[in-house]
Amino acid sequence: MQADDFPEIDTRTASVARVYDFMLGGTDNYEVDRQACEVLEDMMPGSYALTRNNRRYLERLVHYLATECGIRQFIDNGSGLPTQNNVHQVAQQAAPGSKVVYVDIDPVVLAHGRVKALLAEDESTAFIEADVCDVGRILSHPDTQRLINFDEPVGALYVSFLHCIPDDRDPGGVVRQIIDRLAPGSYLAISHLTSDDPQVRERVTALGLNAFGGHWGRVRSREEVAGFFDGLEIVPPGLVKVSEWHPDGREEQDSPDWLEFGGVARKP
Ligand code: SAM
Repeated sequence: MQADDFPEIDTRTASVARVYDFMLGGTDNYEVDRQACEVLEDMMPGSYALTRNNRRYLERLVHYLATECGIRQFIDNGSGLPTQNNVHQVAQQAAPGSKVVYVDIDPVVLAHGRVKALLAEDESTAFIEADVCDVGRILSHPDTQRLINFDEPVGALYVSFLHCIPDDRDPGGVVRQIIDRLAPGSYLAISHLTSDDPQVRERVTALGLNAFGGHWGRVRSREEVAGFFDGLEIVPPGLVKVSEWHPDGREEQDSPDWLEFGGVARKP
């Protein structure tokens, strides 16, 4: 790693990737991130457990796609900092040689991913630093072209991600652009911060916008999240709280007031 491979990092504003890392027990974060976590946990007790439950859902759904659906290639949008059981590790354990393209906009994710070699770039895995909304750039990127065969099904993952995207950036359109490009038999997987209480949606959205310097979207309703799956065949158990999606006994009690909501669907 060269010195100039290290990016400019804003340590005065919390970042979604670093906050999420801290909530999972990681160390790739700064004081400002840890303070944001405290404020969030004060406002919404159970948020650490909610984050851990989300990460376990990611593991389960990748395992499911690899073992039950025969998916051998993944695009992980908003991948986050490397932690345990990253997508390529889960997928390759189930099916050696599975291909994974990670995409994230946060320079710390790229730097730490490469330094730790956890999201190792090898013949099966690549990391692209890009805005997920720039679908054209991701699809035409040389690493995507090298790893993903668009004639074969792909797993498109947006796990704990679309709430980072405001409505004026058209998160539904972003998802549709990718899905339109994928072969029949491809899968979409989503989890999304959701609340049934409009006041909670408003309060947490305001907190996120403030903590992340405006780089955030919003907490949405279940109906809005369901809209991202339009035209696709949702697989059992449907769209649910993520800890109820094929639970494996590691689920923790989390917040009663908000949830990571989502599921998995097949492109017919
Ligand atoms: N998908 C991982 C998981 O569920 O364990 C990590 C989710 S983390 C909450 C959301 C990630 O999305 C962060 O790493 C953040 O940097 C990234 N992100 C936010 N906006 C983005 C954008 N416009 N383009 C690419 N990545 C983005």
